[in-house]
Amino acid sequence: SNRLISPEAGSDEKAVDRVIRPRRLADYVGQPVACEQMEIFIGAARGRSEALDHVLIFGPPGLGKTTLAHIVAHEMGVNLRQTSGPVLEKPGDLAALLTNLDPGDVLFVDEIHRLSPVVEEILYPALEDFQLDIMIGEGPAARSIKLDLPPFTLVGATTRAGLLTSPLRDRFGIVLRLEYYGPEDLARIVARSAAILGIETDADGAGEIARRSRGTPRIANRLLRRVRDYAQVKGDGRITAAIADRALGMLKVDARGFDHMDRRLLKAVIEKFDGGPVGVESLAAAIGEERGTIEDILEPFLILQGFLMRTPRGRVATSAAYSHFGLTPSPRYPG
Ligand code: ADP
Repeated sequence: SNRLISPEAGSDEKAVDRVIRPRRLADYVGQPVACEQMEIFIGAARGRSEALDHVLIFGPPGLGKTTLAHIVAHEMGVNLRQTSGPVLEKPGDLAALLTNLDPGDVLFVDEIHRLSPVVEEILYPALEDFQLDIMIGEGPAARSIKLDLPPFTLVGATTRAGLLTSPLRDRFGIVLRLEYYGPEDLARIVARSAAILGIETDADGAGEIARRSRGTPRIANRLLRRVRDYAQVKGDGRITAAIADRALGMLKVDARGFDHMDRRLLKAVIEKFDGGPVGVESLAAAIGEERGTIEDILEPFLILQGFLMRTPRGRVATSAAYSHFGLTPSPRYPG
């Protein structure tokens, strides 16, 4: 998507990612719960010279799942192989990856909830007993072969807990849930990236970008680069709060960090559905977005910020959402 505050990586961001992505757990900002656990489990596995248990990481896009997978491999001193659920179409695709691992290696599977059932099926014994059980050939000539695999660590990432089948979920010894970042942590990420990229920014400038980054490091890093352009052309190159505010205003990222997509969703609930409750399918149709985008990306942050509520009968706009647009909620239960 060409959304400025899309939490997904643009193809132009891979190169900058390689430069600013933290490599050590000590440089991974925030997420104290996940970090404390990883420090202990990595230290213990290293001490026993064993492969780390399989790790499942939940969290909206852009919060640092891929980064954490790379950190695990780096801290364990092993290789990382990366793939994703939809890419592994056939059991053979997974078998080819698994049989090429060195002992202790990390296999990172992004979007692991999108594995096909046949691939998931052969993954179970691989995770449990480091055994591959695959069929080769077809028809009467088909036979099943068993292969021993080296001990390895699967790191799976997914956007939502509920998307995973429970047998798959049960095979992960370590389960981490990443949370949206607070403004202080994001300001540290902005300051760190600015230092690496040689961008001059003061604390208020970093803070302004942090507050408007939707709790998401990927967005913070992207806004930093756009604000840098603005500072270079409209100022003296230094990022101050005033420069950041003007740049983000130009980019239509509002004071809450909402962009046109967030505003469109909230306005649809308010104006087309009288504040709700409205089902996610009707909402998706009304704003021309996929249901998954609403559930994974748009609404979790709006709910966390208290602008939207999820009720059994559907989504409801809160009074904070009305006042964000200078509107007054209509009295819903007269008398
Ligand atoms: P995900 O895999 O969850 O979509 P990524 O791991 O690709 O997210 O993170 C997006 C970007 O944000 C990375 O390039 C990284 O530079 C930055 N980032 C994510 N988490 C952190 C963190 N905890 N500390 C510092 N930078 C982070």
